[in-house]
Amino acid sequence: MFDAKPIITSIQVAGISNAIDVLRLDLVHPLISGNKWYKLKYNLQEAQKNGYKELLSFGGAYSNHLHALAYAAHLHGMKSIGIVRGETLENPTLDDCRQWGMQLHTFSRQKYRMKKEPQILNELHAQFPEAYIIPEGGDNEDGLKGCREILMGIDLSEYDVIACAVGTGTTLCGIADTVPDHIKVLGFAAMKNDSTLREHIHKRSSHPDIHLVFDEIFGGFGRLTSELQAYMHQFIKEYGFELDRVYTAKMMANLTALFAAGSLDASARVLAIHTGGLQGNRSLSGR
Ligand SMILES: *Cc1c(COP(=O)(O)O)cnc(C)c1O
Repeated sequence: MFDAKPIITSIQVAGISNAIDVLRLDLVHPLISGNKWYKLKYNLQEAQKNGYKELLSFGGAYSNHLHALAYAAHLHGMKSIGIVRGETLENPTLDDCRQWGMQLHTFSRQKYRMKKEPQILNELHAQFPEAYIIPEGGDNEDGLKGCREILMGIDLSEYDVIACAVGTGTTLCGIADTVPDHIKVLGFAAMKNDSTLREHIHKRSSHPDIHLVFDEIFGGFGRLTSELQAYMHQFIKEYGFELDRVYTAKMMANLTALFAAGSLDASARVLAIHTGGLQGNRSLSGR
């Protein structure tokens, strides 16, 4: 889909001896959120190989995944269908999706929780018989396969720790597959403690030094506290680039906190992955 040259921005954080290298997937494409592009790559190929001309997937109202999928489908002359959690279809994210030809449908929160159940999938297959169904967040084998390409072209011998934000964990596990065993892999979950996610990750990754860190600083998934907003503002002011409110801001804040707590050695050399998602920050002004 694209040939991205890795772009790394080094930032100096107080209390940490080495600069933190940030891999800027947010710069991979002006419209498509970094890691979503990788997760869609082989899903798209698979759909096309099997003759599908429509893609269907799921997401929240500010979903980076639906946003990327709508654009990718548009780019490849395919139709797309987005199943959106909740009631509203009016926001800048979904306006973009519609503009790229995505047909949007809502699922109540209750029904959305059941979207992986055979009964619901059968219903969707009946309603959209031409559509290739991709799980929420591109969380499948093809998604993992694409994420194994994220660190291509990067000299990993320069790092002790790789840090990545976690939603479904597809990105983290794909990356971990390509990281040598002696490098610590840290996944920063955007939610509070969730044992299902931990199991899901350990089932899919065989990396011996992979750990999940749950967000204890800013509250639950998608929560927008004044502390989070202040942190994001301060970060831009200090380092000149933006973090997204759901994932990467929490990753950077929790990563810094691990250093401060002494859980990471002050001399550890870190590569942190900026997974993009900045389009979702438009929800900040929409409230
Ligand atoms: C979707 C997303 C993630 C989470 O990716 P998973 O593969 O689902 O864990 C992380 N960061 C950003 C910016 C995202 O949009």
